[in-house]
Formats: sequence, C-alpha cells, structure tokens
Amino acid sequence: MELYIPTRLISGENCIKNNSAYFSMFGEKALIVTGKRSAEISGALADVTDVLDAQGINWTMFNHVENNPTIETCYAGGQAAKDFGASLIIAIGGGSPMDAAKAIATYAVNELKPMEIYHGNFKNKPLPIISIPLTAGTGSEITPYSVLTVHSLENKKTFTHPDNFSKVAFLDPNYLKSLPKSVLYDTVADALSHGIESILCKRDSMMSQVYAEASIKLISEALEGVLSGNPDLEKLLFASSLAGMAISQTGTVIVHSMGYMLTYYKGTPHGRANALLLPGFLKLCQKHCPEKLQIVLRAFGAKDVEPLIDGIKSLVFEKTILSLDEVSAFSHKAFQAKNVSQTLWDLTEQEEALVFSDLLD
Ligand code: NAP
Ligand code: FE
Repeated sequence: MELYIPTRLISGENCIKNNSAYFSMFGEKALIVTGKRSAEISGALADVTDVLDAQGINWTMFNHVENNPTIETCYAGGQAAKDFGASLIIAIGGGSPMDAAKAIATYAVNELKPMEIYHGNFKNKPLPIISIPLTAGTGSEITPYSVLTVHSLENKKTFTHPDNFSKVAFLDPNYLKSLPKSVLYDTVADALSHGIESILCKRDSMMSQVYAEASIKLISEALEGVLSGNPDLEKLLFASSLAGMAISQTGTVIVHSMGYMLTYYKGTPHGRANALLLPGFLKLCQKHCPEKLQIVLRAFGAKDVEPLIDGIKSLVFEKTILSLDEVSAFSHKAFQAKNVSQTLWDLTEQEEALVFSDLLD
C-alpha cells in the first residue's frame, strides 16, 4: 500500500482570509483560473484578490474554462500563464477549472504540443497550484487527475501525474451557497460515485477504503438535507475531499468511463452521468462481488442495495434518454477504456450495454 497526497487542506468559514500567508509562498505573479461566473458569484474571487492585493502579489485572470474543459482551452491557458510570467496558478471553481489548472500549470513551463501532455516525462515541474473548490463533487483539489475533453478522440481523457497535486486547497462551505440545485445534485452524486467506485475496484486497499467509507457515510447522512433544500455544505465538501483522497489511490472504474460517453455525446453533466449509470453497475456488483458490495452498503447504512439505488436515483435531476443504437455504440466504445481492467470480475461488453440499457426510453 502507498499513500501520496501532498496537499495542505485547510477548511472552515473564512479560511482564505485566516490563512492568507500561504498565498505569498509561491512567488509574486498569480494566474487565476476560473469558469465564467461562479468564482465571482460565490464570493471566492473577491476573497482571493483581496488577499493577493494586500500582499502585493500581481494577478491576472484566465476565465475561459468551460464545463468539461478542452485540451485547447488548457493550452491557451498555458500560453496566458507564460505571457504573464506566472509563478502560481490559483484555481477557483468546480472540477472544470481545477482540472484545467493542472494542465495549464504544466503547459506554462514546458514546450509541448497539446497532446504531448499525455506523454509524461516533462522537462520542468508544473507551476504550484492553489485550489478553491466551489462544488462538493470532484475532489479535484486533492487528486492528481485532470480530466480533459479531446475532440479528436470524441472522448474525455485523463492527464495524471504525481506533480499535479495542489500545494494548498481551501475549503470554505460558504462558497457553495450559490450552487444551483441541479449542480448540487450532480456533484453530490459524483462524490458518492467516487467513494463507491473506489471500493468496487481492484486497486482498493485498506487505506483507500478508510477514506471511501467515511465519505459514503457522510453523504448518506447529508442526503436528506440535500433533497429537502437544506444541505450541510461543510459536510458535503469534506465528503467530496475524502472521496478524492480515495480515488487518488485507486482511480475510478467503468461508471466514470461509461459516463464520459453520456457527457461527450449527450451533454449530460458529469456527476449526473454517474448517477444514471450507478444503479446498473451496482446490480452487476450484486451478482459478481456481493461481499465487496456489503462494504459500500454498510458505509451507506443500508441492509441491501435498494435503498442505496433509491438514494442515487433521487439525485438524478433530469434523465438522459438513449436509443438502441446509442446503447450499442457507447458500450462498444466505453469497453475500450483503460479502467475496464480495474473491474472486480471479467466484465463483458454486453454487461456495459445492459447498464446503458437503463436509459432506453
Ligand atoms: P463544473 O463543470 O466545474 O461546473 C458546473 C457548473 O456549475 C458551471 O456552470 C459552473 O459555473 C457552475 N458552478 C460551479 N460552482 C458554482 C457555485 N459555487 N455557484 C454557482 N455556480 C457554480 O462542475 P463539477 O461537477 O465540479 O466538475 C466537473 C468536471 O470535473 C468534469 O470535467 C469531470 O470530468 C471532472 N472531474 C474531475 C475529477 C478529478 O479527480 N480531477 C473527478 C471527477 C470529475 P462557471 O462556469 O461559472 O464556473
Ligand atoms: Fe467524477
């Protein structure tokens, strides 16, 4: 077993203002990487720029990160960091800006063609990253993964490297108050999926399980509040980071690689795609690895799989409908994914088709 999570995680209300010294540890020029509006409306951007201004750190914005960021956007961000002479990248946003920041930090200090980011072996270490999550879903603030949309592959592809971990992550639950209900549901489902997939995976270990089980338990406790419009944002944010720690060690399994089909071809938000596919995956696990599934059920506080499936279904904000042709094409393509080999049994393409079939009209 091995544990490598070199990120300083600081949480609590006003944690940025109360720990501002960390911003001055990484040189004097910061590129702030964000999406369109969330950094501003959550209040996080103002808190960050106040701290930077007070410490005489120059900053500029790269606010072009779209949902499911493309490799082209990250490349452009890398160029922006070079032009500015950035010494630090600050990511403020959901998984999209946080993931983009990792690729930007590597492009910024290396002469690479866009797809060469997948080759590893970089001449220079990436710029340091400070991450500020605005969703409680991806755990990207504490994972080495950067999930990028690659149009030439018609898919999403993960850029991972041990140097991708953020140096510092600030978790302030107040920034999540502006989350639209749909994004809250989608992202809670993503965090839950990370915990579940991390356990139902070949790489699962005693160490990763501690994080995954704790995360599933917290989400189970918080679920009612999410559904009734009174979410415990601090608990959810912590649960998301815990699930991130689990997948930092194990990665995810087929729910994620199958979900990329729904996101790429149907525009389904990432976490929602997982929520739509998890019930079918759990039914397969019930058949093939019931003992392992018990660990997940115990963490969720359920005696059998039905209450867990019901909980997951309650987070589906809107269904995605597939045709028979799409089921066949998506299962064929998703079956080529690397993480198929992490499945606990000898998975077949037909089984993936069965899971996608849940989405037939
Ligand atoms: P996201 O794509 O970062 O954001 C979704 C939407 O929510 C955006 O429109 C965003 O607005 C808005 N939003 C985010 N936070 C908000 C807030 N506090 N208030 C108001 N609006 C807010 O969503 P995400 O689910 O967090 O990230 C998904 C991405 O992460 C996918 O690309 C997925 O593949 C990746 N992912 C990465 C990992 C990992 O380990 N690295 C794991 C799972 C998933 P703006 O456009 O204005 O920002
Ligand atoms: Fe995810």
